[in-house]
Amino acid sequence: MLEAVRRWRERRILASSALPDALWREAVEALPFLAIYTAPELARLRERAVLFLNAKSIVGAHGFEVTPLMRVTIAIQACVLILNIGPHYYDGWQNIIVYPDEFVTNQEYEDEAGVVHRREEPLAGEAMSGGPVILSWPDVEASRDWSTAGMNLVIHEFAHKIDMKSGEANGSPPLPAEMSGAVWQGAMNEAYEHFCARVDQDEDTAIDPYASDSPAEFFAVLSEVFFAEPALLQTEYPRVYELFAQFYRQDPAKPAKLTLER
Ligand SMILES: [Zn+2]
Repeated sequence: MLEAVRRWRERRILASSALPDALWREAVEALPFLAIYTAPELARLRERAVLFLNAKSIVGAHGFEVTPLMRVTIAIQACVLILNIGPHYYDGWQNIIVYPDEFVTNQEYEDEAGVVHRREEPLAGEAMSGGPVILSWPDVEASRDWSTAGMNLVIHEFAHKIDMKSGEANGSPPLPAEMSGAVWQGAMNEAYEHFCARVDQDEDTAIDPYASDSPAEFFAVLSEVFFAEPALLQTEYPRVYELFAQFYRQDPAKPAKLTLER
């Protein structure tokens, strides 16, 4: 979509839709990692969430009732990733499906040897290329606070969506023109190999060992850490932190700036 047309449409939606203050506050207060944002940044996040809720359908599966607070909680976290890079990263698909619990999908996948498998273990979340994002609500709720969960499900699945904007998830999202693909690949591969070696040696890593599953999972898990526990990523993989800061156009490890706006 042409940017001018998009902005015109966004202004029309924002003029006619809003999030009630009480609902917004309740959702934000349950997401401690938002504390780093200044008042103007939070106002922009709120606009993004309104536009997101307007553009996407969030529906319950198996009769699960998705409440307004659930919708806003999902929208805010999804929009944290695109706060400074724009909503076009989420173009091309429509639905978020919320399950009352972990779920099993009937998805088949082919391994490197060409053998087709059916996935049977229950999942907390899944992002499908060109299709929906699927979330288990209890897992969304449990992972709103990194300090207790050590993960963030919504950020994880929406990082996959951003990655999938260039095709299948492979840990290489479409980069802005000013970033070098070769530099990204080199630094990400190096960090991934290093992390896999640590996991292979049974090291008790502060970052979820699931990140060693594939370059796609490495990108999604490290994106969770970047937003929800940024100092950890900066300590463990400073080069990745730097690249993510350039890509997402955010510097979450920096202490919140003093708000000097009028
Ligand atoms: Zn994943």
